[in-house]
Amino acid sequence: MTNDRTKPQPPGLRPGELWWNWFGEFYFTPARLARPREENDVVEAVRYAAHEGMPVRVSARGHSNPQMVPTPGIQVDFAEMDRIISVDRDKFQVTVQPGITVGSLSRQLRDYGMSLNNQGDIDTQTIVGAIATGTHGAGVTLPAISSQMIAARVVTASGEILDLSEKKDGDLFRAFRCSLGLLGVTISVTLQAVPSYNIHKRSWNADSDACIADLHGLLERHRTFWFFWLPTQASADFYVLPPDIPDQTSRGHDICHMRSYDAVPVDHPAPELGAGEVFDHSSVVYPNTYLPNFREIEYAVPFGRFEEAFEEIRHLRMTRYPDEHFPVECRPVLADDSMLSAYAGRDGYALSISGSLDASTWDLLKACDAILDRYDARPHWGKHHFMTAERLERIYPEYDAFRRFRRELDPKGMFLNQHLTPLFA
Ligand SMILES: Cc1cc2nc3c(=O)[nH]c(=O)nc-3n(C[C@H](O)[C@H](O)[C@H](O)COP(=O)(O)OP(=O)(O)OC[C@H]3O[C@@H](n4cnc5c(N)ncnc54)[C@H](O)[C@@H]3O)c2cc1C
Repeated sequence: MTNDRTKPQPPGLRPGELWWNWFGEFYFTPARLARPREENDVVEAVRYAAHEGMPVRVSARGHSNPQMVPTPGIQVDFAEMDRIISVDRDKFQVTVQPGITVGSLSRQLRDYGMSLNNQGDIDTQTIVGAIATGTHGAGVTLPAISSQMIAARVVTASGEILDLSEKKDGDLFRAFRCSLGLLGVTISVTLQAVPSYNIHKRSWNADSDACIADLHGLLERHRTFWFFWLPTQASADFYVLPPDIPDQTSRGHDICHMRSYDAVPVDHPAPELGAGEVFDHSSVVYPNTYLPNFREIEYAVPFGRFEEAFEEIRHLRMTRYPDEHFPVECRPVLADDSMLSAYAGRDGYALSISGSLDASTWDLLKACDAILDRYDARPHWGKHHFMTAERLERIYPEYDAFRRFRRELDPKGMFLNQHLTPLFA
């Protein structure tokens, strides 16, 4: 590999700059930085990397915990390719550049009379970063965001452009859906959106036992129902959860902060709102505010075993870690067909456990990991996890199939790095 900073570079490549993730957990400086303005800049950067034997990784908005972005080679940053390319109003489809954030896309879609079918907790990540890591929202009938992708353009390790689509590419497209940037550099994606809708959001607090007892009823009654378990009186503050919501409990700790979202067509009248209720466009209601004050794991537990797993985590937190304040977030997600999705072929419940950024948090996260391993729980790729290749082989039925595609498309491992090599080489 050549790291000579004085050597002439192809247009668009500049000396690397210090980069760190949103949490400030890690940083790195690549040898070169590419800030493409058009597709051909990406092709040139990848061909240069192939010629020089340099690795390549894409950085997006840095909201992932694991070190998927660091590379000693070329970092590609799509900050200058962040626009909508085209909109098909009849089919409710939109094609975008890779740097666009979920929020920017969602707000612009509103002007076209469209919404994204679902969104996650924040909207500051890029849509391609969200797709690449299996990011999801909540809802028993709603799959991960990568299921909204119907086509993509990708620059492969050989510098060729591959046009992939759900219709024509079958298994390869299923491998690509959630692929951590391992199969190539995504230069555009086409998403299936839906007609614009408003959301009627309700938030309230209830006893944990009452929440779990009525869980299936709540899931049936609402398009989206999810909750945060609050182990201590102080928990809500750690995730900036609103204090002024109705209480169906007299307790201050070991309670659930519950949320339901129901979709309402935009031409329907707004309901009368009570305490803890909000009504607005989907692009406005979905995003929440978080502070970079936590370290998190999130695993998908098979849907039918959620209550059992939740009780184990709750018991662990109450008995061994009574002073840990961070909420546990629990969200149902529909199965999808992506090879590396945490919900591949099975409905699941996303169980997210966090602690402070202190080193002591690792002990809690590892104890939870040990419990969730017994449930064959699968990791969210954008959050901390303790996976090994052996474990992945056990919990992902198509792990080997994914690795075969990776090796075919990138035989020299251009898109691997130190974090990804032990898991996917
Ligand atoms: C506060 C907060 C809230 C969150 N809420 C949710 C939530 O509600 N639901 C959920 O499921 N997750 C959630 N996440 C996780 C988050 O959605 C993912 O970590 C997501 O990947 C972050 O997107 P990003 O744009 O920051 O991507 P990055 O973290 O910068 O990159 C993620 C991966 O995508 C790859 N990548 C990005 N763009 C490209 C491209 N063009 N070509 C090839 N590879 C590419 C990168 O190389 C990297 O491997 C949350 C994270 C935070 C910090």
